[in-house]
Amino acid sequence: MIRDDWSLQEIETIYNSPLLPLLSRAHALHCKYHSIDEVQVCTLVSFKTGGCTEDCKYCAQSARYQTSVVPLPLMQKEEMLAKAKEAIANGATRICIGAAWREIRDGKAFEIILSTVKELTQMKIEVCCTLGMLTQEQANRLKEAGLFAYNHNLDTSQQYYKTIISTRIYDDRLETLARVDRAGISLCCGGIIGMGEKREDRISLIHTLATHKPHPESVPINLLIPIKGTPLENRPPLPIWEMIRMIATSRITIPKAMIRLSAGRLERSPEEQMLCFLAGANSIFSGKKLLTTPNPSFADDNQLFKLFGLKKRPPFKAGRDQETLLAERVD
Ligand code: SF4
Repeated sequence: MIRDDWSLQEIETIYNSPLLPLLSRAHALHCKYHSIDEVQVCTLVSFKTGGCTEDCKYCAQSARYQTSVVPLPLMQKEEMLAKAKEAIANGATRICIGAAWREIRDGKAFEIILSTVKELTQMKIEVCCTLGMLTQEQANRLKEAGLFAYNHNLDTSQQYYKTIISTRIYDDRLETLARVDRAGISLCCGGIIGMGEKREDRISLIHTLATHKPHPESVPINLLIPIKGTPLENRPPLPIWEMIRMIATSRITIPKAMIRLSAGRLERSPEEQMLCFLAGANSIFSGKKLLTTPNPSFADDNQLFKLFGLKKRPPFKAGRDQETLLAERVD
C-alpha cells in the first residue's frame, strides 16, 4: 500500500536501520514498482545562466558570490531545441529547462519558454521546467503548453532552510508546489545533502516529501558540489552511506517516484553509483554540464549502462501522467 501518512518517527527508524536490511527493503519495492534494469536519462538545458538575485549558499549562479559562472544572455529557442535533440539522440527521455531566477516574470522570456515547451512536447518526451517560484496563472499556462513536470526543490528541512537561504522562506516553496499540483503538472521535488545539515534534517525533508499529497512523481537527490566562491565551498564531502540511506528511505516511503541521482555523480565511482541504483535510484542526469557544474558526458554514461547491463527507460513509463496523478490525489 502506498502511504502518505508517515510519521517522522517511522521515517527516522527506516533511515537509521542497518544498511543491509535497509537496502534489501528498498530494493524489493524498487522491483515491485519499476523495471530494475531500466534507468531514465534526463538532461538539463540552461535557458538563463547566472546573475540570480537569490542567496542560496550552494549555488554557483547567485550574483552575490564570486564564482566562475559568467551570466549569459538568454538561450535562443533554436539552441535549446538543438540541445534537446542531441540529448534525445543519446537516449534522454526527459528534458528539463532551467533558469536562474527567483521567480518567473511574465513577458518575452516566459513566452519563449512556453513556445519551447510546446515544441519539445511534440517530441514525445517528458518535458520539465525549473524556473523558480511561479503564480497560479503561470502554472496553468505551462500546463496548457503541454508541460509534463515542474521541478522545485525544497533543498533541505524546514528548520535548516534559513541557514542556507535568506531571500525566501520554506512556505514560499510549498506554495509553488501547491500551485504546480493545482495546475495538474507532475511534481519533481527533492533536495541537496551535504550542506552541513544534520541527519534529522535529511529525515525531515523525506518526511515532507513522503507526506505530500499526491507524492512527487520525481525526487532528485543531489550531493553538494562545493563551488569555489560560495559560502559552502569548503564543506567536507558527506560519506556515500548518507546518500544510500537517503535514496533507500525515499524509495521505501515514496515507492512509485522516480528517484533521480542528480548533482555530485561525477565524483562517484561506478561501484558507488551501482549501490545507489541498488538502493532505488532509477534516473540520472547525463550530459557534460548540469546547468553550470561538470557532469558525466553521454559517452561516459553509455559506458556505465553497458557495464551494468542497464537499459534506458522510455518516457511516461510509470503511467503516472497528469490525469493519473490527479485521480490519485487525496485532498
Ligand atoms: S534561486 Fe536557483 S539559481 Fe538562484 S541562487 Fe538559488 S539555486 Fe541558484
